[in-house]
Amino acid sequence: MVKIGRIRENLPADIVMKGLGKQYPGTATAAVEGVDVTVAAGEVLCIVGASGCGKSTVLRMVAGFEEVTSGTLSVATEPVSGPGPDRGVVFQDYGLFPWLTVAENIAYGPRQARLQRPVVAERTEQALEAVGLTRVSGSFPHQLSGGMQQRVAIARVLANKPSVLLMDEPFGALDALTRVEMQHELQRIQRAAGITVLFVTHSIEEAVYLGDRVMVMAGGTAHGMPGHVREIVDVDLPPDRDASSPEFNAIERHVDGLVHAGHAVRS
Ligand code: ADP
Repeated sequence: MVKIGRIRENLPADIVMKGLGKQYPGTATAAVEGVDVTVAAGEVLCIVGASGCGKSTVLRMVAGFEEVTSGTLSVATEPVSGPGPDRGVVFQDYGLFPWLTVAENIAYGPRQARLQRPVVAERTEQALEAVGLTRVSGSFPHQLSGGMQQRVAIARVLANKPSVLLMDEPFGALDALTRVEMQHELQRIQRAAGITVLFVTHSIEEAVYLGDRVMVMAGGTAHGMPGHVREIVDVDLPPDRDASSPEFNAIERHVDGLVHAGHAVRS
């Protein structure tokens, strides 16, 4: 039995965005404008929308990588003023250190935080267990499949005991079967740790499968208007969703319509 429950240290936090916006220096149009949403502690909010509508910008502001230029943003009631270990970020390209083993990659964050050796070892072991990678702890990233590398990336974040998991197209580079496997894996980890998740994806099916709600964004500088929220859709379906059910398909079609509204050509 995997002891994921022990991974949790920080309580899941809520993320509050009020009139949140971002204008990059030297640009005429804001990349993102007026985002109003509260992601409840323990909720999974997926963000979809055409390329360039500002999905990653929202995620990067929550991560603290990009400065907020309008409105407010807080995580666990604290205004975001930079990156922090309370917010773990997982990207599509894994971002692992190729010269470190799986275990060393995972231990990196706790070591940087100057935790004591036994604590680092315990956290590494727990995170390895949580993603089912204990047996490859001594391997190097290049020796692993894409799915396994992405598990390492998730474990690396879990070892910091974050309150919020921020994922930007995390499964976009994986083959279809591995992608489905990783979606199940994420659900399992998320439920066990009760962590808050913000998940950016191009796949509407993935968003409806994983999200408690799906935030549909539109606009973008290519369309001459700031990226903004078109609608936030409640995914009122039971936890273990059947992507072939009529109820699932109805929500998927609704989200698809919102994503493509106003676009002559589908991307
Ligand atoms: P998405 O994730 O929806 O594809 P992004 O958030 O990556 O959208 O980008 C939103 C808009 O902001 C795009 O027009 C993009 O070109 C622009 N943008 C992103 N990063 C920068 C940056 N560092 N400097 C200037 N413009 C940027």
